[in-house]
Amino acid sequence: MKISVIGTGYVGLVTGTCLAETGNEVICVDIDKEKVEKMRNGVVPIYEPHLDVLFERNIKANRLKFTTSLEEGLDHGDIIFLALPTPEDEDGSADLSYVLNVSEEIGKKIKNYKVIVDKSTVPVGTAEKVHKVIAKNASCEFDVVSNPEFLREGFAVDDFLKPERIVVGSSSERATALMKKLYSPFVRSGNPIIIMDEKSAELTKYAANSFLATKITFMNEIANYCEKVGADVDMVRVGMGTDSRIGKRFLFPGIGYGGSCFPKDVKALQKAGKDKNYDFKILTSVIEINSAQKTILLPKIENYFSNDLKGKTIAIWGLAFKPETDDIREAPSIDMMEGLLKKGAKLQVFDPEAMPNIEKRFGNRLNYSESMYAALENADALLICTEWSIFRTPDFSRLKKLLKNPVIFDGRNLYNLNDVEAEGFVYVSVGRKTVN
Ligand code: NAD
Repeated sequence: MKISVIGTGYVGLVTGTCLAETGNEVICVDIDKEKVEKMRNGVVPIYEPHLDVLFERNIKANRLKFTTSLEEGLDHGDIIFLALPTPEDEDGSADLSYVLNVSEEIGKKIKNYKVIVDKSTVPVGTAEKVHKVIAKNASCEFDVVSNPEFLREGFAVDDFLKPERIVVGSSSERATALMKKLYSPFVRSGNPIIIMDEKSAELTKYAANSFLATKITFMNEIANYCEKVGADVDMVRVGMGTDSRIGKRFLFPGIGYGGSCFPKDVKALQKAGKDKNYDFKILTSVIEINSAQKTILLPKIENYFSNDLKGKTIAIWGLAFKPETDDIREAPSIDMMEGLLKKGAKLQVFDPEAMPNIEKRFGNRLNYSESMYAALENADALLICTEWSIFRTPDFSRLKKLLKNPVIFDGRNLYNLNDVEAEGFVYVSVGRKTVN
């Protein structure tokens, strides 16, 4: 099939590449000339595990092409995916300007039947809006389908190739049939393609992300309470998670969720509720709690240094909003670093993939280290913000030699309390007793 993908970010590039992998002819369109040039030269512009192999293979096979011309993209594809940004607007709602502006152009440019597939995360009613905007100018038939994306950064290729489910919101049989044909190679193991109306599909995505953000936040509250009463959140987590109604996943406490999706999607659903006179009280709490959680270790660090961080050097491991990505959008590390800098601390930071993005934002306000151990040289303490696997079993004796004080503040609960105690560290984590 002939496919076009408009917007080649984390979602669009993975979508385009994986659809090429099943034999489709794909053109990816992006307004970012530099990015398109890079991709044409065979460079993957983001860090996403396993993407490079598929990317290279499909470019070589001539099934994956890149352009800055929307016209070229629209001429090519029978199915046009919109994988455009829907960032947070000033009032917390999703900014639909990217989606609607491109839709306007689609209306002016399409010459024969197309299925326009919205993969961006958008509020209920957007498919209808997109339909109206295209219909203003379109002189041919078209359908608009809502097809929210559930891939996780860091596992995006796997998630796309083997999805647990595919949600398609469509009221056109013709479009539904095309979507089923396109996706059939990805659900051979029997996972469902769930067909529903467009509005329900749009809400499914917001409901899923808001539920997951709530699950994390609930555990963070339990963790904070554990500290007050001397319980161990790791024990509580395992005890709870073995109940199949609860499940083991997404119960890990820490310094809050970040990323390009949860924060903005929870806010967008809360705002969409407000617009319909519905007060999503649970989401208001989630937003508030998560915002405080991001800096929950800051007073503990200050306390350790007798409330004087001036001139103290803190080493930081992990800057991306989660492991296996270079994405730093809304990362808790940012809140921690801003807080520490404000208190006069110096920061020596390391992340396996996110350093260039952090450097673009912080410039020379930070010292960038070449390795996790280099970040520790002459530092007064170590702070862990992201649970990259390379941080999980460090050489503790090396750590102790490099750090001025044997103290670790761990926002992701990476280490066993007995182990760090035996190694002679002061160890402060989330929802567990402090080892000292
Ligand atoms: P992104 O910011 O990584 O990428 C968006 C791309 O669109 C950029 O390359 C940008 O240059 C391009 N673009 C902007 N305007 C354009 C235009 N007029 N024409 C062509 N290209 C244009 O965004 P993303 O993370 O891929 O997210 C896209 C959508 O998917 C959002 O709605 C997001 O909420 C949703 N989503 C994201 C994820 C994720 O993990 N990142 C997962 C599921 C859903």
